[in-house]
Amino acid sequence: MSAARGWPARGSRQAELLAKLDIHRPEDLVIHLPLRYEDETRLTPVAQALPGQTAQIEAVTLSCEIAQPRRQLLARLRDAAGDEIVARWINFYPSLQRQLTPGRRVRLFGEVRGGFFGIEMVHPRLRPVEEGEPLPRALTPVYPTTAGLTQTALRGLVEEALENTALDDPLPAEMRHRLALPGFAEAIHSLHRPPPDAAPAALAARASPAWRRIKFEELLVQQLSLRRAYNARRAHEAVSLPPLRALTDALHAHLPFSLTAAQRRAVEEIAADLAAPHPMQRLLQGDVGSGKTVVAACAMLRAAENGWQAALMAPTEILAEQHYRKLTAWFAPLGLDIVWLSGGRRKREREAGLTRLRSGECLLAVGTHALIEDPVDLPRLALAVVDEQHRFGVRQRLALREKGATGMRPHMLMMSATPIPRTLAMTHYADLDVSVLDELPPGRTPVRTRLVSAARRGEIVARLKAACLEGRQAYWVCPLIEESETLQLQTALETWEALKAALPELRIGLLHGRLKSGEKAATMAAFAAGDLHVLVATTVIEVGVDVPRASLMVIEHAERFGLAQLHQLRGRVGRGAAQSSCVLMYAQPLSATARARLKVIYGQSDGFAIAREDLRIRGPGEFVGARQSGLPLLRYADLEADADMIEPARQAAEELLAGAPEAVDGLLARWLGGREGLLRA
Ligand code: ADP
Ligand code: MG
Repeated sequence: MSAARGWPARGSRQAELLAKLDIHRPEDLVIHLPLRYEDETRLTPVAQALPGQTAQIEAVTLSCEIAQPRRQLLARLRDAAGDEIVARWINFYPSLQRQLTPGRRVRLFGEVRGGFFGIEMVHPRLRPVEEGEPLPRALTPVYPTTAGLTQTALRGLVEEALENTALDDPLPAEMRHRLALPGFAEAIHSLHRPPPDAAPAALAARASPAWRRIKFEELLVQQLSLRRAYNARRAHEAVSLPPLRALTDALHAHLPFSLTAAQRRAVEEIAADLAAPHPMQRLLQGDVGSGKTVVAACAMLRAAENGWQAALMAPTEILAEQHYRKLTAWFAPLGLDIVWLSGGRRKREREAGLTRLRSGECLLAVGTHALIEDPVDLPRLALAVVDEQHRFGVRQRLALREKGATGMRPHMLMMSATPIPRTLAMTHYADLDVSVLDELPPGRTPVRTRLVSAARRGEIVARLKAACLEGRQAYWVCPLIEESETLQLQTALETWEALKAALPELRIGLLHGRLKSGEKAATMAAFAAGDLHVLVATTVIEVGVDVPRASLMVIEHAERFGLAQLHQLRGRVGRGAAQSSCVLMYAQPLSATARARLKVIYGQSDGFAIAREDLRIRGPGEFVGARQSGLPLLRYADLEADADMIEPARQAAEELLAGAPEAVDGLLARWLGGREGLLRA
């Protein structure tokens, strides 16, 4: 294909520039669509040119000179009606001056301005023409490009690609009619060379039938590639873990609570996956505090009762340790112990743990990313659980998977409190199965949220004191300082000192990321045991920390935090029966986005609603970024504007996969070329 007629030679400058645009073959040019269009199909007489409008004017040069002091090229021209216009260039090549030799006829294209000399154009595009030269019959496309590749060159390449590439339509005609979509060739031609009477508003808004066809195809390809990845995964083998019940029943018998209906449902969905001989790939989504840990514990138990290993990976040491303690409390009565691995553990303990995992003597491991390091060997790994999965990159999740027995893939359970909005779940996460915990354990009282100006800090400190003397416990979260961890640390230290000085009657602890792991663990344990009234902390407590007795949360400079973060932080309280409150301190002046965020977090407690608002405020880009995979991003379709096409695209994908494999191949080849492999991650 690279030998196609007119295709720039491999290694040539032009080929390199095209590669920058991710264009590697003529097929890629065909779907390299214009950003916008210019209308060169009409000429505007100078007398009718209005300042502020874009126009094309044909005129003959009267004079052209380099004007000082600012060295600009100044040309005066006259059109057929005898009206004059001035054109100016501040940067120019000598060749431009030659094209403007007096008597030469040119077409100027650009924005018209009312200047000192009358009507003028600054830096118009210029084309020398002969008298009577015909006008283009289609609008002129303007393509996304890169420095060094001109629009003219790119247009030429696209023209050639359109001529030399087969534009056959993979969509069955019946499907096209049903969805009222034009054919591929028709859509592509009309997008590259729209007729001058094309509805300009629909073209610009990318809402014309041709645009809808392309966007639909793009969404369809995304669905197809995700479904293929899903099916490819199902073709792998995994250890089948049937329910044996012995241990599971024993766990339920001594848990201090019974599972919510949502938890039971998730446990069953996971159990059904685990019993199958191919790897599970399931996302367990549940709002902060919905009780995901115990669901993971049930899954891990299923592996253990079958004599296989399970590992749970968490993003921070504090969280990993907390999981270790909680799981130990649940599992020790069943006679199961757990190896705990984290960066901060002593060498000897670590070695001992590694040996027990390697020999298969111990079936359960909990840890930070230390779990995926080299010396860790889990020869009988059948289940890998990743908590707060969005905190890990694809590579880390894959590394955990690779720890399993050769030839077999472990089942994967990913957990997240960041709810994925529906449109994103249907597009970018369609290769995962999802279980949702849509209910909180009973007995929680909603958290009262207050917004307080930082100017009233004194009042807050007084309230904190009163609350703690009544026996309550509180978190005090220090401001996020994104530019500098050192600065953030310093702020935490200062806050801690200041609170200790102001409240000598309270016991106040400090927690931040730089503490040694033993110190972190000791501080967390003291707070959990009720020995500390207040825990001053950086955002290390953001995820997962679970101390049900804490009922007051103060967040300083709340305006600096993102919505998901505020929701996570607030979720640290409201876990017990006591009325909890969250005080969001903010400093003026507030930016418009910060104000919008605070308004949302004040008015909403539901994680899904907050995520929807977050999507609205930030756009989908960052959510998609969080997936960090080789997934092709959507170039043309917009998840909000084109949401109505997602479900039809999903259905169409299923139809094609079931009945038209050649159409699937054609679509994937056209849109992904050889890049589909990236999706297998
Ligand atoms: P998250 O989903 O945020 O990870 P956790 O698993 O940390 O939530 O659970 C939050 C708290 O709720 C923990 O203290 C946990 O022991 C408790 N919990 C979990 N399930 C239930 C339940 N069904 N009934 C009562 N408490 C529960
Ligand atoms: Mg959790």
